[in-house]
Amino acid sequence: MAFGVELELYSKRERFSESLQQKIEERLRYYEDLGIRLFYRDRGASLNSPGAGPPEASNLSTLRAAQEIALPKPKIAAPKTGAVPPVERVEPVTLPSGPSLFEAVDKVQDDTLLKIRDDIGDCTRCKLHKGRHKIVFGDGSAKAQLVFVGEGPGADEDAQGLPFVGRAGKLLTQMIEAMGLQRKDVYICNVVKCRPPENRAPEPDEVATCSPYLLRQIDVIRPKVIVCLGAVAAKTLLQTNRGLTQFRGQWLEWRGHKLMATYHPAYLLRNPNAKGEVWKDLQKVMADLGLQPPKKKSS
Ligand code: URA
Repeated sequence: MAFGVELELYSKRERFSESLQQKIEERLRYYEDLGIRLFYRDRGASLNSPGAGPPEASNLSTLRAAQEIALPKPKIAAPKTGAVPPVERVEPVTLPSGPSLFEAVDKVQDDTLLKIRDDIGDCTRCKLHKGRHKIVFGDGSAKAQLVFVGEGPGADEDAQGLPFVGRAGKLLTQMIEAMGLQRKDVYICNVVKCRPPENRAPEPDEVATCSPYLLRQIDVIRPKVIVCLGAVAAKTLLQTNRGLTQFRGQWLEWRGHKLMATYHPAYLLRNPNAKGEVWKDLQKVMADLGLQPPKKKSS
């Protein structure tokens, strides 16, 4: 089933289960406040992997302390069949600024994606290199207006050297196409470029070593919008310990770009009921970029 059609079904079903959804979200927030982070992992295969820490908690402990983000309440219309609903343009929230991991990254004069790839070389800077087959640098248009940032390569990506080519990748491709785009129109990359063993979440030292290259990639591409797929990407870029649910679907300002965090496609594979939420998030992105969903083929 096409992602757009499927999303509409989920959006409809969602109306019936909104109170349940709210209760679950409140309960998750309650656990987060207690310091217990989310219970899902961003990639299915890692659900039962021993020693795999929760993705929310693990990768930011060495980054600076959580920033308090003043977050607006989302104002969004329910999606309608066949058309992008009128989505209010919301000005992004500016995060409080301060010294950050990324400000320590020197700007590279006349930087290009090729230069960045060259600088990475046959990287052995962190322990992830030991188990990887291929470095997954990123893929898509160097002039993309829209960049998707995931967590890190899984087995399929590690084998092919390309981001999001496994099951979650196929869903991401459907999402992109439902937005009226092709993969070649956007840029897709990850927080870390080598596969974490057993698909565990990347560890703080790995994120700290690898993310400057992600920053350089984004600086070169200069997209209008960045979509963070999942908590690891969002928390790495925003440098916050806040739970994804607290700012998912809301426009944030990040280094001159508009940033939207949403659920990871792998999370959607395990929780298809959340597809409607993601579709709403992506519709905000579409409205901002002036995109229309592709016309439905008449049968
Ligand atoms: N999950 C990710 O976060 N990135 C990929 O490239 C594939 C799966």
